[in-house]
Amino acid sequence: MTHDPHFDILFDPLKIGPVITKNRFYQVPHCTGMGWQRPNMLAEMRSMKAEGGWGVVNTEYCSIHPSSDDLPHSYTSLWDQSDVRAHRMMTDKLHKHGALAGVELWYSGANASSLYTREAPLDVNSRPNLKGLPYQSRKMDKQDFRDLRQWFRDAALRAKDAGFDIVYAYANHHYLLNNFQRSDTNDRDDEYGGSVQNRSRLLREIIEVLKDAVGETMAVAVRFSPDDDKMKNNKPAVEETREFFLQVAELPDMWDITPASWDIELGTSRFVNEGDNEPYISYVKQITSKPVVTVGRFTSTDTMVNQIKRGIVDMIGAARPSIADPFLPKKIEEGRYEDIRECIGCNICYTGDQLGVPIRCTQNPTMGEEWRRGWHPEYVPEKKSESSILVIGAGPAGLEAAHALGKRGYKVMLSEARNELGGRVAQESRLPSLSEWMRVKDYREQQFLKLPNVEVYLDSHLSAEDALLTEVDHIVIATGAKWRADGFGRNNAIGIGNLGASEQIFTPDDIMVGRLPQGKVIVFDDDYYYMAPVIAEMLQKAGCQVTFVSTSNMACSFGSYTSEQPSAQKALINAGVQMIFSQNIQAYDGENIELSCMYTERASMLKADAIVMVTARLPIDELYYQLQDLIENGKAGSTQSIRRIGDCEAPALIASAVYAGRKYALELDDSSGTNYLVRRDVNFSS
Ligand code: ADP
Ligand code: SF4
Repeated sequence: MTHDPHFDILFDPLKIGPVITKNRFYQVPHCTGMGWQRPNMLAEMRSMKAEGGWGVVNTEYCSIHPSSDDLPHSYTSLWDQSDVRAHRMMTDKLHKHGALAGVELWYSGANASSLYTREAPLDVNSRPNLKGLPYQSRKMDKQDFRDLRQWFRDAALRAKDAGFDIVYAYANHHYLLNNFQRSDTNDRDDEYGGSVQNRSRLLREIIEVLKDAVGETMAVAVRFSPDDDKMKNNKPAVEETREFFLQVAELPDMWDITPASWDIELGTSRFVNEGDNEPYISYVKQITSKPVVTVGRFTSTDTMVNQIKRGIVDMIGAARPSIADPFLPKKIEEGRYEDIRECIGCNICYTGDQLGVPIRCTQNPTMGEEWRRGWHPEYVPEKKSESSILVIGAGPAGLEAAHALGKRGYKVMLSEARNELGGRVAQESRLPSLSEWMRVKDYREQQFLKLPNVEVYLDSHLSAEDALLTEVDHIVIATGAKWRADGFGRNNAIGIGNLGASEQIFTPDDIMVGRLPQGKVIVFDDDYYYMAPVIAEMLQKAGCQVTFVSTSNMACSFGSYTSEQPSAQKALINAGVQMIFSQNIQAYDGENIELSCMYTERASMLKADAIVMVTARLPIDELYYQLQDLIENGKAGSTQSIRRIGDCEAPALIASAVYAGRKYALELDDSSGTNYLVRRDVNFSS
């Protein structure tokens, strides 16, 4: 198969300074929670992108000196020869697949407080740590500027030694070079502050250092934000940055452009759509003659072509689409558009970096498991027996198990009680702003069409006896979970005792099937993620007077790890939802709610016609226990094993359910999967 000729432009080579990329698919630097601590995992994961056809594959932000240390957020480093050896493992793999390897040299400044190395970070001035920690940076003096230039030079030379083809200066996102650039952070009165010429001096010097050190053989890139990080007349303000950009536009070999706000660049699909950053970046190519790349969570091939043809960018930058589908370029090249696993914009990938653990992805359960488990995003090991498997429940766990088992060649029956596939993703995607969740179902449903050995039965609610009548060898139960109505949750470990009439208590399951409350509604959040804010906003817009009551001190606190917390809280404020934080519910008599302060236990009262409980979920596991009993009593016929996976085992993220489905499928008839527990990654010592 081949692609539509309309897409040819995506496969045109492009010269970037002294190097040439074979196509326009550019995996921009993105964090992975691996960094210098987990070099084998990192190398194997990036290698998949190269194998999947990306022309350029970058590693994440790479520290040039121990005084730029961001732990517990994992970053790579080029401090010494051990780093060179670690990176070399990755660049060799990238080159084998014909990709260019890029590295983003990073000096943090006040953004990182060097918790691991305990070295004072340098910055424009002595500024409090931007993540809220009680540390300040040191104001740079003349020697510091000399040192900084030397650190960039040394790191660039090591990057060359490590086999990289592109070297970056990271000049946005409130890191050092950006802090010098901005008039609202640079208050210096020496040659590095004040006028735009002065504020651009450091970036110009660093580009010059990189060019001088490695520019003959390596391309020099700059990651840059083209806007002032403010809005003016409902449009991004760009005046100040544009003036700055005019100073530097022709200096590097290419520009990697991202809006200044993480909320736009890395917005979840709840708040930001594919290509929404165009108004921020559209002027850049009018000023520079150098190649430009930008991200935009692009998954539509037409949008990609359109971006290049309209002169917005030269290359299609991707972080998340390359995580959800490392083989995106190959699939487009081969015209296999229906096989593309589209990113759903949930930002679970970002939580790895934020929590200091290896990356994971909702759509791609192999992400992060390439080295320690040997999982591949496209290929699965062939079946090792003629076993047949019954999968009960077609939510993300059941869908992924059936899909991967089917690809392995096993005979699979997938039984679903409802008349549609998708389980929770089908239900949740009907709520406002969550429609992209459906892509989890769409991709897998599309794959079933190619798998004659997978039989799908809808409207098929199975009992234990029904399941055994199928006479399969293995049964896997993926029956999911339901939201609890009794208040049980992280702060009410035995539920809320006194809750009045049940018709005034609602759960997200009620809302998702259209049973809605009216009047004064309390959305009680003890869950801390997107469900309570989505429902509160929806009910307020539907005419209820909603009060959001949370045991937390903010809305959507888990969203701090997915980058959506500020947007979630802003959306509630804009919708007119009242918010009460750090309060628990003690009782409800159908009219009055008794609240208690999480800090002082002081009581207060609130009037309410209904409560929507968003607290915890209860596994639907009766079937599992019934079948287990039958097996233990020798009444299971030919069935050899019963397993439960996904929310039925332990309610968690959609990503966890997809992962559980893949794990079950790959470990069937194969015990090697369990060995990962002893396969721990290590950094080399010097
Ligand atoms: P997960 O996230 O673990 O995949 P979901 O809640 O999304 O779980 O999906 C569970 C699916 O299982 C739902 O679509 C539900 O209709 C289905 N289901 C529950 N019990 C049965 C049963 N006894 N027979 C068939 N399907 C079932
Ligand atoms: Fe996209 Fe979510 Fe996967 Fe990240 S975790 S790549 S946002 S699907």
